[in-house]
Amino acid sequence: MTTPLGRKIARLISLNGPIDVAEYFSICLADPDHGYYRVREPFGADGDFITAPEISQLFGEMIGVFLVNTWKAHGAPSPVRFVELGPGRGVLMVDVLRVIRKLAPGLAATATVELVETSERLRKIQSDALSATAMPVRWHDDIDTVEPGFTLLVANEFFDALPIRQFIFTETGFRERVIVLDANEELAFSVGSASLDDGLLPARAAVGPGTVFEISPARNAVAAKIAERIERNRGVGLIIDYGHVRSGFGDTLQAVRGHEYVSVLGAPGDVDLTSHVDFEMLARAMRGVHVKPVMTQGDFLLALGLLERAGRLGAGKDKGAQEQITAAVQRLAGDGGHDMGKLFKVMCVAGDKLELAPFFADN
Ligand code: SAH
Repeated sequence: MTTPLGRKIARLISLNGPIDVAEYFSICLADPDHGYYRVREPFGADGDFITAPEISQLFGEMIGVFLVNTWKAHGAPSPVRFVELGPGRGVLMVDVLRVIRKLAPGLAATATVELVETSERLRKIQSDALSATAMPVRWHDDIDTVEPGFTLLVANEFFDALPIRQFIFTETGFRERVIVLDANEELAFSVGSASLDDGLLPARAAVGPGTVFEISPARNAVAAKIAERIERNRGVGLIIDYGHVRSGFGDTLQAVRGHEYVSVLGAPGDVDLTSHVDFEMLARAMRGVHVKPVMTQGDFLLALGLLERAGRLGAGKDKGAQEQITAAVQRLAGDGGHDMGKLFKVMCVAGDKLELAPFFADN
């Protein structure tokens, strides 16, 4: 076994038996000694992956514009809680707050910043990034401890990092995918005995041997808490991630290192583990709020004025800087193989039944 965490997981399995994918997933990311988010620096060109706010300030600025519009559409309430789940290096919040201060100083004056982050290492980086802000900044292990108040919540690439369970279709129906030790004492996938309630399956597609279905109790639990908070306090939640608008079948568990896909079981703790977010399932977990029809990230950013803002940002800059801005726009909103515009989706949930452009009315 190649990593210290791999050896730890192997010991755990030899003592207690197979573990399910969700347990493997959470140990890999959150183990106190060797977990990925505890020890590695995942972000940026030198890291393992690059997220939208790290690509360009334009991303956070468009979200800032949306949040200001939303706040005004609700009649400019106070106090306001800016809540971010999984803020990474704090880049998105910095860009959002710059726009807020510029477009709505009244909002900035009444708001607090509430960051839900489990990694101590990232909390420190977030604290440095936000050191210049005049607003109070607080950290939380969980959304539950955020004080009441009108809520503007953002979660970018947060849900993909929460564990999933996987089920595989076999001769005896769907059975849970588990991780065992093979004859060489290496981690290997196998099929366990737990089955799945048929009521959870999407009706649309046919299944055959080996078809995979994923569920995420962890994501559903967070989604339910977001909805509860927004129902009670009013406001909106903006959830941005790669994934699909409708529930479906397929194995989306993936490991990434140095911007490449690598083996899911090969180097636990050293590689990022994520999966695609099932937005239909998230919506089902949210009660008491209005869920707007999900948009693609490209449509969302373009409708909020991405191109106009990019033009202003590039005005008067040299050719190299302008090309960089053009490339960032393409990456954020385009639909090429490496672009995020189509793969990434934006879901908005709101406490009040209100028109919140660019989202269409909810049903
Ligand atoms: N939103 C950032 C970072 C995304 S990476 C960006 O777009 O750049 C995922 C983030 O979620 C990291 O900050 C990670 O430490 C945090 N995280 C992962 N699991 C978490 C959990 N269960 N509770 C709180 N934060 C978590």
